[in-house]
Amino acid sequence: MSEAPDPKEFRRVMGLFATGVTVVTAAAGERTHAMTANAVMSVSLEPLLVCVSVGRTARMNAFLEEAGGFALNILSEAQEDLSRYFAGMWQRPTPPDYRFVPWVGGPRLEGALASVGCAVDRVVEAGDHRLFLGRVLALHRSEAPLRPLLFFAGAYHRLRHPAASARDPLEIWRPEEVQIFYEQ
Ligand SMILES: Cc1cc2nc3c(=O)[nH]c(=O)nc-3n(C[C@H](O)[C@H](O)[C@H](O)COP(=O)(O)OP(=O)(O)OC[C@H]3O[C@@H](n4cnc5c(N)ncnc54)[C@H](O)[C@@H]3O)c2cc1C
Repeated sequence: MSEAPDPKEFRRVMGLFATGVTVVTAAAGERTHAMTANAVMSVSLEPLLVCVSVGRTARMNAFLEEAGGFALNILSEAQEDLSRYFAGMWQRPTPPDYRFVPWVGGPRLEGALASVGCAVDRVVEAGDHRLFLGRVLALHRSEAPLRPLLFFAGAYHRLRHPAASARDPLEIWRPEEVQIFYEQ
């Protein structure tokens, strides 16, 4: 039998799956907690479901459970500092500027590309992570066309060149213009 793959190599390989970056927020009473996450996906259309994978030891778990809801805030390229900050990777003495707006599911982060407000539908235990499935209650999209923050191979990136056949991503913000590639 071959040896099990090395977890570090697993992280390197999965890091080649380029993603956007979100800040997940939850409000338990007066307290808001926020955490950077890219293990996020769209799950179902009927009903509308999304999923975020949260490390078992993250403080976020307790907030998600108590709040019973969350918001996924999809970061714009101007929000790299916030991604670092809400991942606990901020070295400077003062935090970067940010503002949370009370919203459906969890607080909405100003300046994000878009936000998805959810109620926790169920939690699936998955090894050293927990999958929070969220029933989508609200959607918000920035009025201004913004570019996304990307994460690839352990580093932040910007969207520079659209594919040859596509238009500039900033031109495709009107709802009727956004392409849905995959119809059921
Ligand atoms: C690109 C990227 C993607 C990641 N993806 C995932 C993922 O999908 N799943 C995962 O589990 N981990 C992920 N992480 C790691 C995760 O973000 C960190 O491990 C995080 O610190 C764990 O969350 P925590 O709830 O323990 O937060 P903490 O470490 O407690 O908090 C994170 C930071 O945010 C600050 N903070 C939180 N809420 C507030 C608030 N309301 N006001 C002001 N400051 C606040 C805290 O002070 C702290 O500095 C990712 C990290 C990066 C950089």
